[in-house]
Amino acid sequence: MADRMAFFTTPRVERARRDARERLGDWREVYRPGPLLPLVGGQAGRCMDCGLPFCHSACPLGNLVPEWNRLVAEVDAGVAEPGAVGPGTAESEAAEPEAGAGADWRAAAARLLATNNFPEFTGRLCPAPCESACVLAIDGAAVTIKDVELAIADRAWEEGWDGPRPPERTDGRRVAVIGSGPAGLAAAQQLTRAGHATTVYERADRAGGLLRYGIPPFRLEKHRLERRLDQLRSEGTEFHTGVWVGRDVRAEELRAGYDAVVVAVGATARRELPVPGRDLSGVHQAMEYLTWANRVDEGDCGTPPVSAEGRHVVIVGGGDTAADCLGTALRQRAASVTQLDINPRPPRRRAPGEPWPGHPRVYRETTSHEESGAVEAGPRVFAATTVGFEAGPDGRLAAVRFAEAEPADRSPRPGTEQRLPAQLALLALGFTGPEPDPWLSAQLGLATGPEGTLARDDGFATAVPGVFVAGDAGRGQSLIVWAIAEGRAVAAAVDRYLRGWTELPEPIRASARAFTV
Ligand SMILES: Cc1cc2nc3c(=O)[nH]c(=O)nc-3n(C[C@H](O)[C@H](O)[C@H](O)COP(=O)(O)OP(=O)(O)OC[C@H]3O[C@@H](n4cnc5c(N)ncnc54)[C@H](O)[C@@H]3O)c2cc1C
Ligand code: SF4
Repeated sequence: MADRMAFFTTPRVERARRDARERLGDWREVYRPGPLLPLVGGQAGRCMDCGLPFCHSACPLGNLVPEWNRLVAEVDAGVAEPGAVGPGTAESEAAEPEAGAGADWRAAAARLLATNNFPEFTGRLCPAPCESACVLAIDGAAVTIKDVELAIADRAWEEGWDGPRPPERTDGRRVAVIGSGPAGLAAAQQLTRAGHATTVYERADRAGGLLRYGIPPFRLEKHRLERRLDQLRSEGTEFHTGVWVGRDVRAEELRAGYDAVVVAVGATARRELPVPGRDLSGVHQAMEYLTWANRVDEGDCGTPPVSAEGRHVVIVGGGDTAADCLGTALRQRAASVTQLDINPRPPRRRAPGEPWPGHPRVYRETTSHEESGAVEAGPRVFAATTVGFEAGPDGRLAAVRFAEAEPADRSPRPGTEQRLPAQLALLALGFTGPEPDPWLSAQLGLATGPEGTLARDDGFATAVPGVFVAGDAGRGQSLIVWAIAEGRAVAAAVDRYLRGWTELPEPIRASARAFTV
């Protein structure tokens, strides 16, 4: 038996990161390659295999966390029980675990891939609401669920257990997916595997959505995305990149040529900052900046048109996008980087109003913040509201003015204004919904809901027969794990629409939301 008291005797140890200074010298992923597998067995053994696994229900995909924890923990302890997880514990498209050498890692991979199309993305990028909901997190340190997931996902690729699964037969029905972010990719993979001829249309020159041109390579090396796209292609999914549906191809043509259409166009309409000087040269939206940094990594250009090199940089915003700008600016050798976050500094521990098992707002340091500390590149200022941008003699941005934000309404507190020299300011203020796309909306008959997202019913269907909406386009800017869950669920809805029934898993309804109080 594995050690049932391991949660008590084994401390939580997270995956090792490379030295922060070393990381700033390249664009490779921040984690130290290699040592995850030996670590994971002991960490997975900390799982208490709770009768009611809240981690499982906190994951929008319904990942079978205690099951894979048990399988890899037992392997680590040398007491493998091949096939210990029986059928019927969850919807499973994957093969039953095989006995023999490596059978338990393989079984763990089968359980993981039964609920998650792209665990190598979530294992690297998910903020892990499952760990907040782990019973151990009530008064201690959660199981390192995300690390375990990643170890299993990477091992599955290495061993060839996550190979292409083309359909045994196709049924002649055709589906178009618009958008190739994680929602569109998950939908396409599920539909192709179910036997429908599926084509993905993407306006960008490469597929991947925000995985490609939003998230920087130091958090996701793009060869991992290429590997997954190759797998989708080899299963039969077709890709047309550089095709803006609504402009390059009329949406009516898609409706006429396909039996169903999935709209997974994301939610990348950027929030603006209407303050004096916003239009100065040197003030940019974060996505303009991050896209170019990713393009340099892809080899599209040597020097990006927007670069932090040698400049004093101010990032306005406090979320993931801001942290990605910070890590990118540090790698571009900015003279200094200051982050202005309008929110007050969150507490280090759960506030009473944010009880377990929800994902709490607590103070978090990303790997980019760790790096900025290592080179003392600049402060992170909380409760700071940006009041304007100032031009220098050359007419370009020379300084950012900010003030303390009043807690009640975030307005500038009189007498607190400060001035920061800056040649580059990046706006990372979040996203308001899908980008307005009158051509696409008019041609497909799409309506906008009250929250600014594309309207759909609880089963992902729009008012137009055969047209469905998935991912951030229907939910608003969210997380990769939600996008994959939406992609899987919309595939089931489309399959049912086409055949009248479905065996595809439906992890969520469109109205499902993360647990909050
Ligand atoms: C900088 C940044 C960092 C992030 N980091 C994380 C993270 O660490 N962890 C996490 O979980 N989430 C993160 N997110 C959020 C996550 O990336 C998104 O929630 C997720 O990508 C949404 O997936 P999607 O498929 O719905 O949309 P997207 O990924 O936005 O993809 C939509 C695609 O549709 C295409 N498209 C749009 N209109 C058309 C058209 N008319 N014709 C053809 N194609 C079209 C777009 O070009 C795009 O490729 C981050 C977001 C940003 C911006
Ligand atoms: S996808 Fe995210 S929430 Fe789900 S198990 Fe993995 S880390 Fe946890």
